[in-house]
Amino acid sequence: MTRLYDSRKRILVTGGAGFLGSHLIDRLLDQGHEVICADNLFTGTKRNIEHLHGHPHFEFMRHDVTFPLYVEVDEIYNLACPASPIHYQHDPVQTTKTSVHGAINMLGLAKRLRCRIFQASTSEVYGDPSVHPQPEDYWGNVNPIGPRSCYDEGKRCAETLFFDYWRQHNLDIKVVRIFNTYGPRMHHADGRVVSNFIVQALRGEPITIFGDGQQTRSFCYVDDLVEGFLRMMETDNSVTGPINIGNPGEFTIRELAEKTIQLTGSKSELVQMPLPADDPKQRQPDITKAREALSWEPTIELEEGLTRTIEYFKKRLPELVEV
Ligand code: NAD
Ligand code: UDP
Ligand code: UDP
Repeated sequence: MTRLYDSRKRILVTGGAGFLGSHLIDRLLDQGHEVICADNLFTGTKRNIEHLHGHPHFEFMRHDVTFPLYVEVDEIYNLACPASPIHYQHDPVQTTKTSVHGAINMLGLAKRLRCRIFQASTSEVYGDPSVHPQPEDYWGNVNPIGPRSCYDEGKRCAETLFFDYWRQHNLDIKVVRIFNTYGPRMHHADGRVVSNFIVQALRGEPITIFGDGQQTRSFCYVDDLVEGFLRMMETDNSVTGPINIGNPGEFTIRELAEKTIQLTGSKSELVQMPLPADDPKQRQPDITKAREALSWEPTIELEEGLTRTIEYFKKRLPELVEV
């Protein structure tokens, strides 16, 4: 595409009204690029991008990626997909369609434009992993017919499509596997553990620990994650990924609950609830590749990131609808 200003790119971000997408857009606009955000607002909200209203380089399109999209851009970030179990299990068929048809449409768009395309894949492609921590060459342990399969298998199929377009059409692809991420603009009621615990703690409600709380997760603060995205997109076209992006610091869910109580000064009690089906027992990224190929590693400790996220939810609490 011919551009007026060489360094300014026009960039499409699908799912840009969501948690991660809106932070990515902030960084891209800060760098001076033009951004088109395509989002059907299924889980994202206009609130996440309302501060960009009237920004001369920002454009919002209400669009469902399961339908073709004809725009002229220099780069594509494909983030559109509900990400939390409550959201992606609400309409599982639509979740698979979003991952698979969405990938086909965005890859078709990238093929027509001969432009670079980024895929937000997930640590869920490893399923309930039998290898720990998970390196990218681990193929995973995924149930193909369970309640999480629409998300896990949809994302796996999207990766397959990315690598087939790369092999078959020589497309310039960038695939990252994102591990649990948290920060401001997380949806307060999507059931994810960090937002659940913070909102429960701030309201003085019981903190709901699923199972015995000994399962582990590794939590990455959103700013670190977005930095990883940008570095991945800047690599030369020999780097396709998949590359894990996440924070290797591993915590049990019980530890997370205790830290949240401590940082909020809450009097909430811990209560135990049944563990959801197929809930992975442990998850920790091996980020050797990201360190080598992107010179990237997270810089924000859990305590610092949680403090910032708690500040965000404190401000928003009065307007949050009880669920
Ligand atoms: P999110 O739900 O906040 O954002 C997803 C966005 O996609 C929303 O704005 C939603 O409205 C939009 N969307 C959903 N279906 C769509 C469709 N058919 N057409 C157009 N837009 C659609 O979730 P998030 O946490 O920001 O996740 C963004 C991406 O990162 C997702 O692809 C997710 O799978 C991936 N990811 C996130 C995490 C995490 O911890 N947040 C972990 C792994 C992978
Ligand atoms: N597509 C799109 N925008 C474009 C080009 C293609 O949304 O600018 C969609 C189109 O719906 C098509 C899909 O991408 O079905 C895959 O395109 P591709 O060229 O790979 O396949 P084909 O058009 O041959 O089916
Ligand atoms: N979890 C929990 N209490 C909650 C929400 C989640 O104990 O209120 C647990 C959940 O069972 C899982 C972990 O926290 O073991 C992370 O859950 P989340 O849905 O945030 O992410 P994912 O399971 O997709 O990694």
